[in-house]
Amino acid sequence: MSLAENLAEIQSRIHAACTRSGRDPASVQLLAVSKSHPPETIRAAVDGGQIFFGENKIQEAKAKIPLCPSRARWHFIGHLQSNKVRDAVELFEMIQGVDSLDIAQEINRRAEQAAKTVPLLLEVNVAGEASKFGYAPEKLLAELKTLDALPRIEIHGLMAIPPFNPVAEKSRSYFRRLRDLKFQCEEILGVPLPQLSMGMSGDFEVAIEEGATIVRIGTALFGERVSSLRRAETD
Ligand SMILES: *Cc1c(COP(=O)(O)O)cnc(C)c1O
Repeated sequence: MSLAENLAEIQSRIHAACTRSGRDPASVQLLAVSKSHPPETIRAAVDGGQIFFGENKIQEAKAKIPLCPSRARWHFIGHLQSNKVRDAVELFEMIQGVDSLDIAQEINRRAEQAAKTVPLLLEVNVAGEASKFGYAPEKLLAELKTLDALPRIEIHGLMAIPPFNPVAEKSRSYFRRLRDLKFQCEEILGVPLPQLSMGMSGDFEVAIEEGATIVRIGTALFGERVSSLRRAETD
């Protein structure tokens, strides 16, 4: 299938999942995960109507983004190292995957220098996997007010990468856990958090049924990545 066909099919599956769960299709944003794919591919996706793209490596994004249509909008997804924060603040309109107070403080500092405010999503390690980045839920709840007090960041919600399982249904309990955690965060902060970034190529429909507002889709849209590890999230 061509990229245009993949895009149309994913959009229609998003639409169907929304209809099934009584949600407005406009409440779910497709983030096209373009890591490892060249600017020509991104241009073709933009020509097909896709606007939001996700990258997880600063080096790659720095080289690639200037070669892509300016209409494309970029989210950083995954773990960010503090020595890459300055570039991230410059290149991306949202940073998904903030997983410590240290990193949030560094983003705050760099955002101030750049005279910006940076929207971000806090990453949660929903299954408590030793190999994964992300906040432990208790730690997130304990640090939330301190994070929220940083003036140059805006907490827009939560994101998670549940353990890989070829059976999409097996991810449902993790998506629920993230949604419940967002409710708890909203109670602590006293404001609604609009975004829940969850669901990838294999399980985005289940994620939508559980309340995802951003689905991050790579393989189902662009095909297999050439060089990178399928679930690598380090920089
Ligand atoms: C690579 C990646 C995705 C996309 O994964 P696919 O299974 O190819 O859809 C989503 N989220 C993050 C954080 C990623 O690193």
